[in-house]
Order: sequence, then C-alpha cells, then structure tokens
Amino acid sequence: SKEKSGTYHHFFRSEMSDRNLENIFLENALYKALENEELCIHYQPQIDSRTNSIIGAEALLRWNHPTRGMVSPINFIPTAEETGLIVPIGKWVLLNACKQLKVWHAQGNSHMTVSVNLSGRQFEEDDLLSMIESILVETGIPPECLHIELTENQIFKNTYVTLEKMREIKMLGVKISLDDFGTGYSSLGYLKNFPIDTLKIDRSFMFDILTDKDNAAITSTIITLAQNLDLDVIAEGVETKEQLDFLMARSCFNIQGYYFSKPLDAKALDEFMNQISNN
Ligand code: C2E
Ligand code: CA
Ligand code: CA
Ligand code: CA
Repeated sequence: SKEKSGTYHHFFRSEMSDRNLENIFLENALYKALENEELCIHYQPQIDSRTNSIIGAEALLRWNHPTRGMVSPINFIPTAEETGLIVPIGKWVLLNACKQLKVWHAQGNSHMTVSVNLSGRQFEEDDLLSMIESILVETGIPPECLHIELTENQIFKNTYVTLEKMREIKMLGVKISLDDFGTGYSSLGYLKNFPIDTLKIDRSFMFDILTDKDNAAITSTIITLAQNLDLDVIAEGVETKEQLDFLMARSCFNIQGYYFSKPLDAKALDEFMNQISNN
C-alpha cells in the first residue's frame, strides 16, 4: 500500500547518510555544470622570487554554481572522482588550460608553463595518453610547458599502471610534478624510480615555519633532497615575507602562494603580469 511504501521510504532515507544524499545531489548538478558551462579555471601564478617574474601558473578548477556561488573544488572533486565525472571534467580543464597558455605565449610570455592537476582516476582510462597528445596537437603548446601534478597517494593507488603512464607522458615531453610532497604514505626510495621533474612542497609545512622546528626541518630536508636528486622544487602556500626569506635562504626560489597572489581568473592574471613586469 501507499502508506507502507511511504514508511519504507522514510526508513530508507533515515538510513542513508547525509553524505550519500549530498552525493546524489552533487552528481546530478555536476553533470549539468559541465554542459551548462558553469565550470571555470582560476590560475595561481608561480614566481621566480629572484627576479619577481612569472614562471608559470597552476590551473585550479572552480564551479560557478547558479545559486550557491563559487564552489571550492575540495567540495566536489571527491564526488567527481567517485562517479567518474572527473574524467570528462579533467579533460575539459586540461584543454582549456593549454588553450589559455597558448594565449599567454602569444602575448610574449613564451617561457611560461601551466600546471594541471590530474586525478588518479584519470590514469585508469586507456586513452589518457592519446587524450593528452591530441590536446598538445590541437593547442600547439610546447610539451615541456605543460606540467602534470600528481600526488604520491594517487600514484600508490595503482602503482604499476600509473608508473607506466607517467613514463609515456614524459616521453611526450610533458613534465610531472609530485604535489603535496611530504604528506603521502610513500617511502623516499621510490623517488629514484619515478619519472618526475619537480617536488612541490606541501603548504602544511609552511605553517609557523620560523618557530615550528619540525616544519622547518622537513622543508629544509625536502629542498636538499630535491637538489641532491637533481629535481626542481617549488613551495606552495607561501603567505608571508618570513616564509619567503626562509625558502630563499635555502635556495628554493620557485614560489606559489598568497604572498604573491591568490588564484585569479585569466583576465586578472593578465593584469597581475602587467603589474609585476612594470615593477
Ligand atoms: P592543490 O593541488 O594542492 O592546490 C593548491 C591549493 O592551495 C589551492 O586550493 C590553492 O588555492 C591553495 N593555496 C595556494 N596558495 C595558498 C596560500 O598561500 N594559502 C592558502 N591557505 N592556500 C593556498 P583550491 O583551489 O581550493 O584547490 C584545492 C584542491 O582541489 C587542489 O589542491 C587540488 O587537489 C584540487 N583541484 C583543483 N583543481 C583541480 C583539477 O582541475 N583537477 C583535479 N583532479 N583536482 C583539482
Ligand atoms: Ca596541485
Ligand atoms: Ca598541492
Ligand atoms: Ca593540497
């Protein structure tokens, strides 16, 4: 009867976690977001602190929701990964970030790079390599100007397959950065086998770096490790002059963080670039 199924429905719903309900809402809304062009990309500049010049930008996904406003990726990337929606979304980010880089190159910033976050879920797709390759061909950007960011944990979810694909990506000439470095589960030994170019020091280690001896030691050690392994190193989450001085004193000059700029839309990044080149 109607009453009975109503009761059952109520019972069922109370058994469902809020997280599940939120997921179902999100999944439907995310499908529409991609179709309705509600997604956009902000770019956070990466600066060479010796010259105060821009070396690149990290592409960071934003969802401009019609009623909720700007939604942070930390609120929808996990659902996008669970549902597989991160595959078309990630492809959209990569294509549009490369198109934007092409524009910046044409404006004369010809050495600028763009860093794009790839989800481990995207590495499960058979056509990942051909997808990247076709975007390089379509946009015509030099492959070495594209940097793929991956976390240790993403690699370790499926080590063998991911490693193979990382090697293939590198054969295209694309660079690979290890994001959130120092926060994962992995041991240091893998660094010599992994086809990576850059260590990206996680921003959690910037916290209280002048007074927190542990964070200071970890940051210094990562910088030395990168130097000894002949890898590039970049610090993220740099917010203060003190953090900047600490890093520069240890020869870490590639800096990303609010100290220089928050993530900006493409137009605002143009203005930012004009400003710093006039200083
Ligand atoms: P992430 O890759 O570690 O990106 C850096 C995050 O730190 C960004 O947050 C950035 O806005 C923030 N940040 C940068 N500098 C500072 C600083 O000085 N202080 C503070 N407090 N925060 C800073 P955002 O944009 O919210 O992105 C969060 C995460 O979402 C990213 O972390 C990344 O894991 C994920 N994400 C963003 N875009 C994409 C994407 O296109 N694909 C995938 N798979 N993940 C993405
Ligand atoms: Ca990143
Ligand atoms: Ca990071
Ligand atoms: Ca992070």
